[in-house]
Amino acid sequence: MSSATPRTLITGGAGFLGSHLCERFLAEGHHVICMDNLITGSANNIAHLMGHERFEFVKLDVTTFIYVQGELDYVLHFASPASPIDYLKLPIQTLKVGALGTHKALGLAKEKNARLLLASTSEVYGDPLTHPQKESYWGNVNPVGMRGVYDEAKRFAEAMTMAYHRYHEVETRIVRIFNTYGPRMRLDDGRALPTFMKQALMGDPITVFGDGSQTRSFCYVDDLVEGIYRLLLSDEPEPVNVGNPDEISILDFAKEIIELTDSSSEIVFKPLPKDDPQVRQPDISRAKEVLGWTPSYDRAEGLRKTLSYFEEQIAKRETAEA
Ligand code: NAD
Ligand code: UDP
Repeated sequence: MSSATPRTLITGGAGFLGSHLCERFLAEGHHVICMDNLITGSANNIAHLMGHERFEFVKLDVTTFIYVQGELDYVLHFASPASPIDYLKLPIQTLKVGALGTHKALGLAKEKNARLLLASTSEVYGDPLTHPQKESYWGNVNPVGMRGVYDEAKRFAEAMTMAYHRYHEVETRIVRIFNTYGPRMRLDDGRALPTFMKQALMGDPITVFGDGSQTRSFCYVDDLVEGIYRLLLSDEPEPVNVGNPDEISILDFAKEIIELTDSSSEIVFKPLPKDDPQVRQPDISRAKEVLGWTPSYDRAEGLRKTLSYFEEQIAKRETAEA
């Protein structure tokens, strides 16, 4: 560890979560190096940070080789396609960034004597056979299914991170992130929340997959960032779930968004994608105990904050198309 101003590398820093992390670490006084190849992220997400004296952007594919000049205190490895339509379109890149990208990020952390935090996911639990999901659950993943490219990449990334921790004594942290939402999600990233918001705001039919009885537990981005920040500064090398345990069926979620937006959209049912998990809810006992963390936004408040962002995005799109 180095100087008075901590130096922090955030891979995937131009993505949805990465851009919020860049902001948070700048606010905490860090020098932030944001590294991204913009494959699913966007320079727009970090445009407001360009020119900040403690912010650098490096356009790089982290599966090739990562070089950073000078000292580094922290590496947050967030690079990876994350929405199902992205990783289904980019299966090899997804496997590579979870495997080769994580290896490169760990090699860099070892070289710089830095602490690395891996962005893992609730998808390591697959279609879970226990409910809610505790960190001790090993998961139920179909390795050769369509979602396997993402789930197995993250499972490999966790195994690689623990190997560097145990064998090379690199300080590591693993956050298992559950569905997180907020400003800077892409309107067209295909995830339930942006899709439903866009459809509701445009008066289009809301596409619920299956009968909508599958559940998710949605966490507002500021809560997630707080959990990640606390985990990074903690002494916990074992994986920690960070998510909001407030579980809802996708059908009720669609109805909630129709109500929030005061929309006239109807709900239409589409086929359920293969291997779509039936339930998902984090057990956050470990985060409570080790980090003293619980989410502070309820869904109504988080959704209201997110709605204004989507309204702006749709207005911009309509102006551009006019
Ligand atoms: P995102 O797609 O908005 O961000 C990912 C970023 O990684 C993008 O900016 C993309 O360009 C970049 N990237 C991908 N491959 C890269 C490569 N080879 N080299 C450099 N940059 C690369 O997605 P997000 O929702 O912000 O997710 C960020 C991380 O959090 C991912 O690792 C994801 O698996 C994890 N995660 C997110 C959620 C969620 O709900 N948002 C849930 C679980 C885990
Ligand atoms: N979903 C849906 N309609 C959509 C997009 C998603 O019903 O237009 C469903 C999807 O099948 C899943 C849930 O919403 O059951 C959450 O999907 P998302 O892609 O947001 O995240 P993940 O499946 O990775 O949790």
